[in-house]
Amino acid sequence: MKQWEIVIGIETHAQLSTQSKIFSGSSTAFGAEPNVQANAVDIALPGVLPVLNKSVVECAIRFGLAVNGEVAEKSVFARKNYFYPDLPKGYQISQYEHPVVVGGKMTIQMGQGDSLTEKTINLTRAHLEEDAGKSLHEDFHGKTGIDLNRAGTPLLEIVSEPDMRSSAEAVAYAKALHALVRWIGICDGNMQEGSFRCDANVSVRPFGQKEFGTRREIKNLNSFRFMQQAIDFEVQWQIATIEDGGRIEQATVLFDPDSGETRAMRSKEDAHDYRYFPDPDLLPLIIDRQWVERIRAGMPELPAAKRERFVRDYALSAYDATALTASLEIADYYEAALAVAGNASAKPCANWVSVELAARLNKDGKDISAAPVAAAQLGGLVARIADSTISNNIARKVFEGLWNGEGSTADEIIEKQGLKQITDSGAIEALIDGVLAANASMVAEFRAGKEKAFNALVGQAMKATKGKANPQQVNDLLRKKLG
Ligand code: ADP
Ligand code: MG
Repeated sequence: MKQWEIVIGIETHAQLSTQSKIFSGSSTAFGAEPNVQANAVDIALPGVLPVLNKSVVECAIRFGLAVNGEVAEKSVFARKNYFYPDLPKGYQISQYEHPVVVGGKMTIQMGQGDSLTEKTINLTRAHLEEDAGKSLHEDFHGKTGIDLNRAGTPLLEIVSEPDMRSSAEAVAYAKALHALVRWIGICDGNMQEGSFRCDANVSVRPFGQKEFGTRREIKNLNSFRFMQQAIDFEVQWQIATIEDGGRIEQATVLFDPDSGETRAMRSKEDAHDYRYFPDPDLLPLIIDRQWVERIRAGMPELPAAKRERFVRDYALSAYDATALTASLEIADYYEAALAVAGNASAKPCANWVSVELAARLNKDGKDISAAPVAAAQLGGLVARIADSTISNNIARKVFEGLWNGEGSTADEIIEKQGLKQITDSGAIEALIDGVLAANASMVAEFRAGKEKAFNALVGQAMKATKGKANPQQVNDLLRKKLG
């Protein structure tokens, strides 16, 4: 049997976080009553003219700089002509031959822990365009309504090269891109509201074959899980079709989350079907180099640079650094916590942020921006583990206390609830003597060679102090006493 290689390229529509639309002054806020945010330009009344929104261009420049692409000095808006009820002009203003960003790269991380690997995904281009409106098929007494609030919403379409070789790589790329557009503040990334949508182009070819196979394009994937499911289904379907002697026809398909299947929606249009031509209502977009440099100077430190710095300055593993730079909020939280805990606690602090805090946030369905425990509070907690005031176990209790507002600092909770670790070796020795006397049978078992009995004795000692004895000291002293 032939072995099949999977080839995936992704087109992403990122809605740009501007107050107003790309060519009109209407608001872009989500959730308004239908058609209240659609002015004469958006509904395409005769005689109106589009006026380009400068913030939209700034977003595109930020993106071009973030992916190390070329910000074109001159790009051109074009009309993409097609008929659809939610497109009042009969064409969409987009960019075609001359996009605003050319090339660029994204780095994705695959795998876990020590087996983390990196891969570069090349970008073809990114271009500006306007969104269309929306047909509403529900609740219209058997009729279909058109909502033009979305018409003219600014989008950046980001096109990747067909560089991905598995659904996992495709998801990693989409997640990295999602994190990046939020990081640089050009898109809120809200996938439920449609602010970040991906189309996955999928083909297969026998390993070793140079030419790509024929692709099918899965439209409008609005969750990473659906993306993975849709690609996996599509790949199996294409391989089965070819192995059964069939041929893949180029097509646009939709993923149905209920059945887990992809289904052909229409045969794919070619570019000439759209009769692209430069929009005579808009001048070419000329981007001044000084403006680009001003924007470059105001860019935040990017995920890749921050990740490298975390590895270099805090001696974190690549895996930890990747987890901590999943978003700017997480990275900022970590560094604010570390500023209080001290750099010597870089690793435990990383664990507290990306394991303990993440799990707790997840449990309550909260985002880190709404974490009840502030970074400085967590840093203060980690500092108390580092200086042996409390053990890691007790720290979980203090953390829960901070989460529930039982005190405003770790120190306050430790003090109020008497959680300070017992490190006085005289006190621990006395305690161990008591435990040994009370558990003679366990001692006998240990002496008979049962190592498990030792752990049971440690457990008894810890229990006697409600977990407050220093576990290492208990271990050491117990070994000493048992000879
Ligand atoms: P369009 O979809 O508008 O026709 P392109 O032909 O430029 O645009 O391709 C769009 C996307 O499809 C790109 O992300 C590209 O990497 C990807 N792609 C092109 N050919 C293939 C292929 N044979 N298999 C998988 N992806 C492909
Ligand atoms: Mg396409």
